[in-house]
Amino acid sequence: MTTHTTKMLILGSGPAGLSAAIYGARAGMAPIVVQGIQPGGQLTTTTDVENYPGFADVIQGPWLMEQMQAQAEHVGTRLMWDTIVEVDLTRRPFRLIGDGGDVYEGDVLVIATGAQAKWLGLDSEDLLKGKGVSACATCDGFFYRGKRVAVIGGGNTAVEEALYLTNHSPDVTLIHRRDSFRAEKILQDRLFAHKGIKVLWNKEVDGFVDGGGTAGLVGIDLRDTVTGEISRVDVEGGFVAIGHHPATELFRGHLALDSDGYIAVETGTTRTSVPGVFACGDVMDKVYRQAVTAAGTGCMAALDAERFLATAEFEVAEAAE
Ligand SMILES: Cc1cc2nc3c(=O)[nH]c(=O)nc-3n(C[C@H](O)[C@H](O)[C@H](O)COP(=O)(O)OP(=O)(O)OC[C@H]3O[C@@H](n4cnc5c(N)ncnc54)[C@H](O)[C@@H]3O)c2cc1C
Repeated sequence: MTTHTTKMLILGSGPAGLSAAIYGARAGMAPIVVQGIQPGGQLTTTTDVENYPGFADVIQGPWLMEQMQAQAEHVGTRLMWDTIVEVDLTRRPFRLIGDGGDVYEGDVLVIATGAQAKWLGLDSEDLLKGKGVSACATCDGFFYRGKRVAVIGGGNTAVEEALYLTNHSPDVTLIHRRDSFRAEKILQDRLFAHKGIKVLWNKEVDGFVDGGGTAGLVGIDLRDTVTGEISRVDVEGGFVAIGHHPATELFRGHLALDSDGYIAVETGTTRTSVPGVFACGDVMDKVYRQAVTAAGTGCMAALDAERFLATAEFEVAEAAE
């Protein structure tokens, strides 16, 4: 068992954690990043990324994250292969325990553990992820320009994704397993007023249909939740929009979370309910959920953390005098 100490401890190695590390290292805080089970974060699970600024040509998600890791290391970040299983935020330095028993101590803590999309859990969904099946219309909608697409879900996200997809597709189907939506009324009004969106009620996904070869998704088989009847909708894009799981279990009871389980931060900052603990990226953002916004709030967390430490150190020096 080893104890690793640093001024700035960062949990998570997606765009948020690595951006915090780049700014933190350049501010002299010699950060340690505990990478978790998904080094590089969610973008390592995708292929083409066309919306991260700075690249005129399409880049690959895993390549982008390798570049961010290398950049963080070049400026002085230490990356650790570990997953945190226990936290003590009652006093500074904050003390976190890795799953092999190593201890991590940080004068400030930046939480960037992300939020995973919920999936339906079907084999055919796994098979066709990235080949027609997606959980993010903002990320992937552009790839389905002029094609038929379907969204699965009935909450705000599903209705928003269906509306967003009409920017690209002339033929959007919204599939919902009940006979009414949970989405806000204003969103439903916009949805029902849109001629390009068709709603299929009382239908759940029985399977995603593989066209074989390089075709990818060609349709979705649906089961009627009332009659049990099976039907098929022909689409090239299927967007699963049934919610996200913020990775905050570890912090329940230690930090304020909002009603959906995301880390609550002071508006316009990355400050959490515990002074010296900051949160950035998808773990505190249920609205935008993009790599560039995660990187942006990662930068904010490092700047907030640096100011917090500088103020704390000044107060200690003042008291000593
Ligand atoms: C398939 C797919 C395609 C996407 N395409 C795009 C796109 O084209 N453009 C775009 O802008 N966005 C895209 N996104 C969204 C984007 O990936 C996320 O918004 C972004 O990765 C969020 O960054 P993050 O750093 O907040 O969290 P994440 O990238 O989710 O990273 C979370 C990190 O926390 C770590 N972690 C979790 N728990 C622990 C723990 N207990 N201890 C230590 N570490 C822990 C994980 O290992 C991981 O490294 C896509 C997402 C997916 C799933």
